[in-house]
Amino acid sequence: MENKKIIIIGGGVIGLGIGWQLAKAGATVTIYERAQAGRAASWAAAGMLAPLAEAHSEEPELLKLGCQSLERYPQWVNELENDAEMSIGYRVEGTLVVGLEPDDTHQLRHLYTAQQDLGLDVEWLTGREAREIESALSPRVTAAIRCATDYQVDNRLMVTALQRAYQACGGVLHENSAIEKIVTVNGVATGVQTQNGFQAADVLILAAGCWSAQVEGLPDTTIPPVRPVKGQMLALQMEEGITVKNVIRTVRARYPTSVYLVPRTDGRLIVGATSEEMGFDTRLTAGGVFELLRGAWEAVPGVYELPLLETWTGLRPGSRDNAPILGKTPVENLVYATGHYRNGILLTPITAYEIAKLILTGETSETIAPFQLDRFIM
Ligand SMILES: Cc1cc2nc3c(=O)[nH]c(=O)nc-3n(C[C@H](O)[C@H](O)[C@H](O)COP(=O)(O)OP(=O)(O)OC[C@H]3O[C@@H](n4cnc5c(N)ncnc54)[C@H](O)[C@@H]3O)c2cc1C
Repeated sequence: MENKKIIIIGGGVIGLGIGWQLAKAGATVTIYERAQAGRAASWAAAGMLAPLAEAHSEEPELLKLGCQSLERYPQWVNELENDAEMSIGYRVEGTLVVGLEPDDTHQLRHLYTAQQDLGLDVEWLTGREAREIESALSPRVTAAIRCATDYQVDNRLMVTALQRAYQACGGVLHENSAIEKIVTVNGVATGVQTQNGFQAADVLILAAGCWSAQVEGLPDTTIPPVRPVKGQMLALQMEEGITVKNVIRTVRARYPTSVYLVPRTDGRLIVGATSEEMGFDTRLTAGGVFELLRGAWEAVPGVYELPLLETWTGLRPGSRDNAPILGKTPVENLVYATGHYRNGILLTPITAYEIAKLILTGETSETIAPFQLDRFIM
């Protein structure tokens, strides 16, 4: 393996995570990143690790993968914090999904029934019980679901840690270096076309987030079906008397945007997110920010007083069935790790461990087999 040359296209959490695991195993790894590593979706995210709160009965395989990745988080945090010599802000207070009026309670009940049918460990709470756990919640909260094992990590710290750990293990990172084209010869990937010419590789990994379908050189049937899904976000500064400990998510039957509030250890309160099919448009809108602030204020009225620190947008890499695209492709020596949509931070450990294993052993594990590109090829 030491002599194999691996090129990864894209330096988000997925590319960096795989690169770190491979470089640590002794492989020669180079990541090409079009802009600055980890500053796209991986920077924009809220860092929720929420397979239970986001469970959908029609996505059982994705739920299973999310739960498996969450199980691997303690090992991941330990290993990454050791290698990078820094904390990544992993927090285990859990998540409360709250409703504010009768319509919301119906929707919440629907979610709770689905979660129970899926055998998930969740708890129904009255509004009062929810406020006993999180005193900042509004008196209007009528009911809640406690997802005690839906944790969170500070995704920006995780990006920094991954970059450090990757480079400390000997991984090479070229920033401001876009890959223009994947080069194939007779159905075999042989390398990439960079601004500085052709670079040969034994294995290529496409981890370019929502831009994965734009990299040229692939046969039409092999282009990954990934599109950008815009999310607007903002951060508030928590102050004495107005602090939140758990991740809070709202269910709002009558409004276009349900929101979440994610408290960071450094005192920031992340509020997100819209979900918009707007192509590669990354503009913030008055309506988007308004919906976020209204939703946050309804659930936690105290936020009205808090300083607004930052607003931003990000583009989720959404696949056709909301699940990631992982593993081998019809092009020999080309591996995909893309399309992680709204769960890419949650799915980083399982993706990094399993894709690294695939490249080191040549074997596709049962864990990632259901997520290969061939599920879209008729
Ligand atoms: C608003 C928002 C909130 C989210 N919240 C959560 C959450 O709470 N929990 C969760 O689990 N997930 C969340 N996500 C999803 C998560 O952020 C993504 O699924 C994850 O970051 C995807 O990682 P990635 O490395 O594939 O993509 P990215 O981080 O987008 O990285 C892809 C990289 O590839 C580079 N690139 C693209 N084209 C090329 C090229 N041709 N050559 C070289 N480099 C290239 C880009 O510059 C980019 O840096 C959220 C996403 C958004 C936008």
